[in-house]
Amino acid sequence: MASNALCWIDDSIIPADQASVSVFDHGLLYGDGVFEGLRFYHGRTFMLEAHLERLEQSAEAIGLVLPHTVRQITAAIESLVEAYPADSGYLRLVVTRGPGSLGIDPGSCSRPVMFIIADELRVMNVSDPSQGVSLHVARTRRLPASCLNPEIKSLNYLNNILARIEANRAGMDEALMLNLDGFVSEGSVDNLFIVAEGVLRTPPISDGLLAGITRAVVIEVAIEAGIACEQTSLRLEDLLQAEECFLTGTGAELIPVRQIDEHTFTAPDNPLTPIIMQGFRARIAKDCATR
Ligand code: PMP
Repeated sequence: MASNALCWIDDSIIPADQASVSVFDHGLLYGDGVFEGLRFYHGRTFMLEAHLERLEQSAEAIGLVLPHTVRQITAAIESLVEAYPADSGYLRLVVTRGPGSLGIDPGSCSRPVMFIIADELRVMNVSDPSQGVSLHVARTRRLPASCLNPEIKSLNYLNNILARIEANRAGMDEALMLNLDGFVSEGSVDNLFIVAEGVLRTPPISDGLLAGITRAVVIEVAIEAGIACEQTSLRLEDLLQAEECFLTGTGAELIPVRQIDEHTFTAPDNPLTPIIMQGFRARIAKDCATR
């Protein structure tokens, strides 16, 4: 455990390894809760409003009343970032259903529990992400919205974890998940983009994926850079024929994909990924200017 990690819980900030929740918490017993992963740069949290909006939507989707107002959560995040010894890092904001009886019924949980961890970020287990990551097409399909809507950022990540275990066993960095219809959905913890014939393409949310905040920023950045961008269903063949491919996420930021199973991407003459990456970094620098 990272020694610098701090945790905001019950209106206090304490070393994260001293923070605890009840063994009766339904977040632990059933994955009943929601969360957000955020990044702060130069002491400022990137895309804070969008993350809190998604948190509210996820909570509402599972009938969970957030224990604090958005204003109180913002203040908690600000105080935690202020207390954290480095000026950049990662935040994990978790709201659980709270302690209840051993049965599944959330009605037994009297009050939700919220905590926020600030820690350094461990990006995918790759030594140099700029060299690109490898993807393994998982047999585990992304859950359809009619079972557990991937738009809900819930504590129940086993669907994604099973896919990531497959990628680990295949010796690859990340899993690529398809939906039940065989279309590309997303990675286990990131969204996917390709560049094909000079157009940036990414699957629509309706294909069963988390509406990633980095995804939305990347679409904006691409449009600002004059790059055509389409949200369109993609098959695995579209990925294998693409000129470029990359993943986006709060943790990953924007990571090129160098390989999908046996297929290796060859670098095109005028790649668009570096232009989008540069625009993305400029956006962070602008939004999180040094205080
Ligand atoms: N998909 C999944 C399943 C994720 O867990 C994440 C990480 N939150 C993402 C996509 C990327 O979303 P964001 O850009 O908001 O971090």
